[in-house]
Amino acid sequence: MIHPTAEVDPSARLGPGTRVWHQAQIRENAVLGANCIVGKGAYIDRDVHIGDNAKIENGAFVYRGTTLEEGVFVGPGACLANDKHPRAITPDGRLKTEADWQGGKTLVKYGASIGAGALVLPDVVIGRWAMVGAAAVVTRNVPDHALVVGSPARLAGYACRCGHPLEQDQGRGCWACPTCEATYDFAPLGAKASQG
Ligand SMILES: [Zn+2]
Repeated sequence: MIHPTAEVDPSARLGPGTRVWHQAQIRENAVLGANCIVGKGAYIDRDVHIGDNAKIENGAFVYRGTTLEEGVFVGPGACLANDKHPRAITPDGRLKTEADWQGGKTLVKYGASIGAGALVLPDVVIGRWAMVGAAAVVTRNVPDHALVVGSPARLAGYACRCGHPLEQDQGRGCWACPTCEATYDFAPLGAKASQG
């Protein structure tokens, strides 16, 4: 299903069941898996790869160099940027072209979520099931299941596969989900090295 107001380049490949809503744009050679949802006004840049069952919410920007694995959520208005040292012009004042430009790469792994309005700077890996808080600014790698918030984004805890924050269970020496009761063996917080 592609809404008539959406603009999907003929060279883009969309898997079965993927839906593209109003005024979304999908650029050249982008590849989306099956059953993805691309919300109103979202932008998927050239050569972006997106796995099955991903949700790209309204007005999100996913720039070239980004790979989203299966089941990734990108919240409304979030941006996955690709230029760490942006300039419109070269040092001698010429308008930059493709040849002057070196983009970064970002990988968002299976099941991870990027909160509404968050900004992900290039050249980071966001781990499986990680949770990036709304409006966070991600400047470095995010471990699996990590909950990161703020600018620059810092480790604030861990998120369950169900999306809820985990609580440290001192008695059992693990992290537990108060919502679905899943448990995980993550290191206690405070060990700063746990954020890669
Ligand atoms: Zn849970």
